[in-house]
Amino acid sequence: METDIATEPAAGTGSDLETTDGTVTVRTTHPGGNGRVLEVDGEAIRLEPEIRDSTRRWFYWYVDAESDADQTLRIEFPSDEVVGPRGPAVRTAMPCGGPIGNGAWDEWRWLGADHRIDATAFRYAFDAGERVQFALSFPYQRADFDAFAFEYESDPRLSLETLTTTAGGREVPVVRLGPSDADRHVALAARHHACESTASYVLEGVLRELLESEAMEPLLETHRVHAYPFGDLDGVERGDQGKYRGPHDHNRDYVDANEISELSPLYPTTSAIADDLRSLESLSLAIDFHCPFKWGGDINDRPFFVTEPTAASDELRGLAERLEDVTRARSSETDPTLTYDASPGVGLASFDSQSGLLHTFERYCSQLGAEPAASLEVPYVGTATDPVTPSTARRFGRDLAVALGATAR
Ligand SMILES: [Zn+2]
Repeated sequence: METDIATEPAAGTGSDLETTDGTVTVRTTHPGGNGRVLEVDGEAIRLEPEIRDSTRRWFYWYVDAESDADQTLRIEFPSDEVVGPRGPAVRTAMPCGGPIGNGAWDEWRWLGADHRIDATAFRYAFDAGERVQFALSFPYQRADFDAFAFEYESDPRLSLETLTTTAGGREVPVVRLGPSDADRHVALAARHHACESTASYVLEGVLRELLESEAMEPLLETHRVHAYPFGDLDGVERGDQGKYRGPHDHNRDYVDANEISELSPLYPTTSAIADDLRSLESLSLAIDFHCPFKWGGDINDRPFFVTEPTAASDELRGLAERLEDVTRARSSETDPTLTYDASPGVGLASFDSQSGLLHTFERYCSQLGAEPAASLEVPYVGTATDPVTPSTARRFGRDLAVALGATAR
């Protein structure tokens, strides 16, 4: 499957940095790369997230580092608290001797609290020749989606289409599952905010459960599922924050077709998704997958649907209760899982600034009749008992699929 379809020039930079004991090469040329080197000082490399065209300071970063010597370095973010409670996400290149491509990396994992110095810094002991990637949380790029899609390529229920082409020349995928003549439809989307990567693992988990579980067959006999995995594929691959992109971000671009003002979508992908949604006969249910603020605070460490708890529709409340039941029933005492708590203020919670009048995917789907039409926030880090990892996030998606199976009308 072709992944390198971009026509825009490769973004990112690479710098050879002289440390006390050797040289470390820090790059952001890989898909999703983000991080500016500020300075090197002995055993400390100082970085900052690149904010690019976001209008507020945000926290996404994802760098690649290769050391020519055995050395322990401190990676510091002098102006940003962007090292989470379990340290950064990390993966190491497998020492196979060949060029490093996708698939030549270990699984992403948390580096661990023992490597964390504080919210602005962590420590890592490099082996000579070792290549490592570090990020705020677990990245999910186009190549990760392609690896998923490749597994199910021969399944006749799945069709993978190109929805449109981005301004950067990238082909935007849409996944369709279920009968092409269904008269009821489910819409799922992610990455309207490019940096919100853990949401993608949940969406992938939903699709895996739909394809693998016999219990999902009734849903797929009556509904066609349309999944838009990359609302902002250029941003995902360039490693943009995407959140608060100026003049407005992709999740503020679903302007009404019949609006009195002259507004029209800025971005080809949101325009194409809106057209696609409008072409569906009857939209039953829609979920847009997001990530909240980085961690901490009242709501950022547990999954939640964005709603004033008292304003949640019966349908959304029903979905939330079923999701709570499914995650608890399927939670395991041996492996950590991500459970869901439907309590008001935990699993049904609102942002201070969230307005129902914004031009979001959720609102657009709601206007097309979807009920529930909801945004689901997936934490970047999670809690000690409910940690977010690639596997717990996929598992949570599987649980959500089961809950959806009992919800979709
Ligand atoms: Zn978001």
